[in-house]
Amino acid sequence: MNFRRTTLFFASLILLLGILFQGFSISLWWLLIPIHIYLLILVLGAIYIQHNFYLKSRNNLTPHHEKQIMLTFDDGIHAEFTPIILDALKEKNVRAMFFLIGKNIPGNEGIVARMLNEGHTIGNHSYSHGMWFDLKSVRAMVSEILQTNGLLESISGMPVRYFRPPYGVTNPNVARAVRQSGLISVGWSLRSMDTVATSEVALLQKLKSGTFPGCIVLLHDRCEVTSKVLTDYIDYCKDQGYTFVTLNS
Ligand SMILES: [Zn+2]
Repeated sequence: MNFRRTTLFFASLILLLGILFQGFSISLWWLLIPIHIYLLILVLGAIYIQHNFYLKSRNNLTPHHEKQIMLTFDDGIHAEFTPIILDALKEKNVRAMFFLIGKNIPGNEGIVARMLNEGHTIGNHSYSHGMWFDLKSVRAMVSEILQTNGLLESISGMPVRYFRPPYGVTNPNVARAVRQSGLISVGWSLRSMDTVATSEVALLQKLKSGTFPGCIVLLHDRCEVTSKVLTDYIDYCKDQGYTFVTLNS
């Protein structure tokens, strides 16, 4: 199910019901039911990137049966916690993906270079990561994406391939902007909720219980709690037989 097919289905349904209801003199208020269901589907499609409703994203690794997972970190660079996370990954010999916010890059170019030198993959997470990013025009979104690509490419010398929509929210404009930018959208299958984690124990438990073969894990390198549990989580995954990959592996 995607946006286009769903819209076509509900438009046809509402038209058909409208004709039937008029023929049988039934109140048109009943049409509010499919309209509300349609609106609910649009909202759920926007919130849950895993549904690929507006935009097809990589939300899992394939094949699923292999014990591989991918760690992803959003919202960097954070001058304090990103280096701690890089230290943990280096110590454990794990490669990950970092989706960077463009406005956080100036002044932290050395940390981006370190990520690349240590084998991590970097992706684009918009320039502003503003609250209202999803309400911007396609042109404004593309402008943000290209601005961040320019910053990343000036450090790496390589074209950026991956984009993660801010907040994981998608809509028709985000989909168009990603397509126009020529990037691959990357979602997730395990949302750690580390930004609102109440304790290290709770976060670690959520990560452990949610891990499965092929999952893409969403974490944030701006979170202190994430930097504190990362080593234990990696140890747990290794004990369970998992290996860590990135989309560039
Ligand atoms: Zn984010």
